[in-house]
Amino acid sequence: MKTNIILMGPPGAGKGTQAKLIIQEFNLPHISTGDMFREAMKNATPLGLKAKSYIDQGHLVPDDVTIGIVEERLAQDDCKGGFLLDGFPRTIPQAEALDKMMAKMHRKIDLVIDVETPKEELIRRISGRRVCKSCGAPYHVDTMKPKVDGVCDICGGPLMQRKDDNVEALEVRLNHYEHETKPLLDYYKEAGNLVTLDGSKGKDLLFVEVKELIRGER
Ligand code: ADP
Ligand code: ZN
Repeated sequence: MKTNIILMGPPGAGKGTQAKLIIQEFNLPHISTGDMFREAMKNATPLGLKAKSYIDQGHLVPDDVTIGIVEERLAQDDCKGGFLLDGFPRTIPQAEALDKMMAKMHRKIDLVIDVETPKEELIRRISGRRVCKSCGAPYHVDTMKPKVDGVCDICGGPLMQRKDDNVEALEVRLNHYEHETKPLLDYYKEAGNLVTLDGSKGKDLLFVEVKELIRGER
């Protein structure tokens, strides 16, 4: 089984949804920089206040800040047996920093799953996206409705729209993906552990492929 895993892809590709499925099935710690920043913003910590101005407008949080929180998180005990990185690395300097952290721990990234989805579909998904305010579970007003309107199936928390899920911020996020994050695909292709999957498939079909990859069956 692959245990040191990166999940990549543009905003709205379905990373978060796959991440939730992966951590349930394989019992890996979920390291989502987006979730970590949102938690810090909710609690108005110094990190949260710093990140907020970037995130709300769709910009990337500066590398030094992001690298710092990931390094701290990976050093914790629950990451000893592996981890799922979701939303990190997003820039070449972040990928280089991650390689250094891995080398220090005598470990290696096993698998990079890149979920690609056409831009029109990304825009449709993000504009209808809702998330649980309490547990972060993702929903969509048309395609992934909760059983009760506005209420999380999992924890009963209220559903809300993320502040950066609007057309302007999304344009900015897609631009950052294109220019800063896409170059990482070549970086990992060269390292030999990149697999690209079609995110327009629907979450269950996609998860079948994801499971095979993690189990090393393909
Ligand atoms: P999405 O994949 O839908 O854009 P995330 O929840 O992964 O959402 O990230 C939300 C925001 O948090 C990003 O738009 C960015 O501002 C910030 N962020 C998350 N991860 C990183 C990262 N690795 N580097 C810089 N900024 C990040
Ligand atoms: Zn919830």
